[in-house]
Amino acid sequence: MKINENYLNLSNNYLFADIAKRVKAFKAESPMADVISLGIGDVTQPLVPAVVEALHKAADEMSMAAGFRGYGPEQGYDFLRDAIVEHDFHARGIDIETDEIFVSDGAKSDTGNFQELLSADCVVAVTDPVYPVYVDSNLMAGRHIVKLPCTAENQFAPALPKKRVDVIYLCYPNNPTGTVLTKDQLKKWVDYALAVDALIFYDAAYEAFIQHDDIPHSIYEIPGAKQCAVEFHSYSKTAGFTGVRCGYTVVPEEVILKSKHGNEVVLNSLWNRRQCTKFNGTSYLSQRAAEAIYTPEGSAQIRQVIDYYMDNARVMREELTDMGFIVYGGEDAPYLWVHTPSLTPSPGLTPNPSPVGEGDFADEGSSWAFFDWMLRSAHVVCTPGAGFGPSGEGYVRLTAFGTHENTERALRRIARKL
Ligand SMILES: *Cc1c(COP(=O)(O)O)cnc(C)c1O
Repeated sequence: MKINENYLNLSNNYLFADIAKRVKAFKAESPMADVISLGIGDVTQPLVPAVVEALHKAADEMSMAAGFRGYGPEQGYDFLRDAIVEHDFHARGIDIETDEIFVSDGAKSDTGNFQELLSADCVVAVTDPVYPVYVDSNLMAGRHIVKLPCTAENQFAPALPKKRVDVIYLCYPNNPTGTVLTKDQLKKWVDYALAVDALIFYDAAYEAFIQHDDIPHSIYEIPGAKQCAVEFHSYSKTAGFTGVRCGYTVVPEEVILKSKHGNEVVLNSLWNRRQCTKFNGTSYLSQRAAEAIYTPEGSAQIRQVIDYYMDNARVMREELTDMGFIVYGGEDAPYLWVHTPSLTPSPGLTPNPSPVGEGDFADEGSSWAFFDWMLRSAHVVCTPGAGFGPSGEGYVRLTAFGTHENTERALRRIARKL
């Protein structure tokens, strides 16, 4: 009856549960308040017509004996893997083959699970602030984690670790900061990984939001990355698949790891073995739906939705900057990283009108104080940066995933309360 003690090392602070609790308490006190969320990282626009059509068609196929499909390949159907290779890689001049693509039910599972292929004594580096999945999945495995601060001082591009690390998680465009790495900045990491024989886990979940031509969409645009990097993709933000569930992971054949006896192990084969054991494939319907975004109609339709969100991001950036905030991100990503003390000394920020559940907020830094101010004064929900790691203190994350209408209403309210 002994548990995995590592689970006790996980933080008990569930960021979004905490936020929900405070929002609920505020709504109970102020039932008439119409609260707008610019907090959670979920999309709001419906699936595009090409995707819906593919889902209907797949459901009809499954309803007939001739078209019915049971278990599919653990690695994904070739119709989707081939479309991925052609459109996401070959079209960009990147040489990736079908056998290097593993279709999944989304990037959260794969970014969380991939670490189990590595030794428990590997040292893992993550950026700070960070998407919590990378940290928690490694804590569960008992690994030591090194945090690489990303701040305004280093333009949110982490410095190389002083002591050697075995694994580095990078997510660009970044959640939560909304910032990007240039090819030169990314090359520094690929060169480091090749030099010290480290592995990079590259989360490209927001690749489709990149607007600037010179920002890399894939780490494999950098020479040498195919020897040292695994890349995660998701259709969740790209095509509104947070409820449909589909993504994929690229494991190049050239990534070779060593056993403790010095034998070479092909990472691709190891992941294939893991998936065949623990994963029974992504739903046929989801994979047909994902395939549809690569058709001319599908890709034009999802482009429109991405433009819609990025239009929100532009308006948010412009208006918040006009109000006096210091804003990062939001140019190549649907997230804005807003410096909370950039307004101080502002009469609006202190004192906090009436803290929810006195005592709950003792010793809180400015990101939670700002969260409370936004909620209580403007009735707008944001995400306190401190919830993503110590370097997130002093910032809040705003998302561009709302409707135009709600985004503009939220901005007008913030401006009125300053
Ligand atoms: C949303 C998100 C994902 C995607 O997760 P899914 O499981 O594919 O929905 C992956 N990584 C980051 C950083 C994200 O924000």
